This record gives sequence, C-alpha cells and structure tokens, in this order.
Amino acid sequence: MTLEEACAADAADPLRACRDRFALPEGVIYLDGNSLGALPAATPARQADLVERQWRDRLIRGWNEGWIEAPRRVGAKIAPLIGAAPHEVIAADSTSANLFKLIVAVLQAGERRTVLSEAGNFPTDLHVAEGAVRCVPGARLEIVTRESIAASIGADTALVVLTHVHYKTAQRYDMKSITAAALAAGAMILWDLSHSAGAVAVDLNSADADLAVGCGYKYLNGGPGAPAWLFVAERHQDRLANPLSGWMGHAQPFAFTDAYEPAPGIDRWLCGTPPVLALSALEAGLATFDGVSMPALEAKGARLFDLFAARAAAPGLECVTPADPAARGSHISFRHPHAWPINNALIEAGVIGDFRAPDILRFGLTPLYTGYEDVWRATEILGEVLATERWRESRFAERSRVT
Ligand SMILES: *Cc1c(COP(=O)(O)O)cnc(C)c1O
Repeated sequence: MTLEEACAADAADPLRACRDRFALPEGVIYLDGNSLGALPAATPARQADLVERQWRDRLIRGWNEGWIEAPRRVGAKIAPLIGAAPHEVIAADSTSANLFKLIVAVLQAGERRTVLSEAGNFPTDLHVAEGAVRCVPGARLEIVTRESIAASIGADTALVVLTHVHYKTAQRYDMKSITAAALAAGAMILWDLSHSAGAVAVDLNSADADLAVGCGYKYLNGGPGAPAWLFVAERHQDRLANPLSGWMGHAQPFAFTDAYEPAPGIDRWLCGTPPVLALSALEAGLATFDGVSMPALEAKGARLFDLFAARAAAPGLECVTPADPAARGSHISFRHPHAWPINNALIEAGVIGDFRAPDILRFGLTPLYTGYEDVWRATEILGEVLATERWRESRFAERSRVT
C-alpha cells in the first residue's frame, strides 16, 4: 500500500467520522490506546459541567440527580460491547479489585478448591489470584502453560481465570471453546477482557461465560485510572456473594442497618461510594462507541494490523502476534533485543507505542481513531529508526518508572 492508497483507505473508511470524537494532539501518531485511550473531545466540557455546575451548585442533591445510578448506567453502556445484558454489568473499583471479589466469591460458593490460570498472564491477575486463594482455607492456585489450560481443568477446578487477549502478544483465546471446556468439567470461567472490550467483537452470553472483568482506561477511553467493570451472568447473580461486603452493595444502604444484606442482582458487587468524577469521564469515553458495530470495528483493526505487519519487516524485528485475525486482538507486538531504546527513539520521533519487558515493542491499533495513514507513517518512521540505528544514541537508553 502506498501513502496515497492509505489516505484513500481512510477517506473510504466508514468509521472515519469516529476520529472526530477525539481530541488528538498535533504531531503525534498515537499507538498506545490499548494502554491509555485518547481523550474524547466531549470529556472536558462534561467534566467541567460535573464540577462547576453539579458539584458546586447542586452539592449533595447530585446523588439523587444521577450520581448514585452511575455504576449501573455506565455498566449498561459497556454491556453491548461485550455481548452482555445491561443488568449483568456494573462499573466499579479497579480490575484488580474486581478479580479479587469474583475469585473469592466463587471459592466460597462451592467445594472445589483450585483456581487455574496461565503462566505469563497479566501480572495483577496472577498476583490477585495468589492473594485470593490465601483468603479461603484449602484453596490453591495452579498456573500452567497456555497450551495445557484445557487439559488441566479437572474435578477440583473451581474457576479458570484467563485474559482473553494477551497483553504482550495479543494472542486471543477462542472464548467459546475454552468456556465450553470449563463448563463441561463443572468449573466456572472468569474472562479478563481488558484488551478485548472495545477492541474486538466479544459475545459473553453466546459463549455461556460465567464472569468477566475489564479496564475502563484502555480501549474504553475513560481516562487515567478510570473505574473498571465486572460482569456476572444472570444465572449466578443470586448465588455468588461479594466478599467486600460494603454498604453500597447492601440491599438498602440508607436503612443504615448493622447486618449486611446483599442487594439483589449486579448491585451487590459495589463496595464503597462510587467515584462520580471518574465515572462521568468513563461515560464520555463510552459515548465514542455510539452507533459503532463491534464486528465492523474488529474488521478495521484487522486491516490496520495487516498494513502494519506488511510494512514492519526489518532485520531483528520478530512479530509475535498471530497472523490469523481470529486468533489475535487489536495490537501488534514485536520482539527485538533493543526494544527499549527503539521505543524511546520512536516516541521522540512522534510515534507513541510502548515497551513491555523484557524485549517487546507494542503498538495499539484503536480502530475508532487510528487511520491507515497513521499506520503508514508510523511504520515509515520505525523503518527509518531501525535502518539508521538512531536508537543507539545514549539518551534513548535512560529508564523511566512507568513503561
Ligand atoms: C491493564 C490490565 C489490568 C489492569 O488492572 P488494574 O487493576 O486497572 O491496574 C488487569 N488485567 C489485564 C489483563 C490488563 O491488561
């Protein structure tokens, strides 16, 4: 594809208008929306209204003017992106905290004692699972390779915890078949959709999935540290109890009773007072998906990927993301022994991707606002940085705290 053809592909792109829903900085090709989504154009005015009108003028009356319903309202807006019913999703806490709540809840609801996960899963998923099993007598965490997950689901497996799209390689599990294997063995499954929701078409209910969690600040564009969300299939909602039994998950928080009584349905997964400012920004982030079909979004992501992959062939650069679009998410990753300084040199040249230790260069393709021209130009700069070995300049070796 030539630059002219890339520009023509943008002009013909049915999702092109979605790019105007974002305030993208000049002079930057942003390929890290899988880590922190771009700022939606509507967010600043919406946040100003929340602070300067709702908070200043309405004060505590705001709780009865939409604030208290925000976790449910935002959850219902996430639902269509992941194939869930509106009453099966709630925005709450962080992905890490939601993993903890659901893992402990499953262990406490049954006799099985093993939680199964994948070696190399996102660190917090493994760290939280480790802490969660420590809270339940007899429980244990079993970590196996990706290839042996299905074969390792056994008679004692209570829960399989997997990340649908891998944060490093973008490898995607077949949700339907792995879920079916877990259910057939009498286990439950919890999908972490942090790199899937808003990136690829997901259908939790048609896969019969039990539980899911995900981030608000990646593809959902909710802003740094945005609230996360969780999904509990309707059939489990009255059976599972939130171990963080806080007052906001109580059936009647404002009855102020001593004893905890869980709210019916998805509301019981709340713990403390919802972060209204942050939920408002997440709601603006979700509005960037208005009218967008997830299969169309996924199809564009796949085309952006193919363009990137075709133009990023250079010595030493090894693509670790599967070629099959159904087997990958919406980012493209490469192994390179000098990934760290190369990423820094790219950032200086205006191409923002990221680095994942020890040797991964990662580029997020966010179909709402990434264009074919962006990918064309970014790969041109990548080729130039590699060919000139500009990344060898000493300033690119410096380490930073967040990568
Ligand atoms: C980004 C990400 C998280 C982040 O969890 P936080 O609690 O928001 O820090 C968790 N799991 C996966 C798979 C992720 O990609």
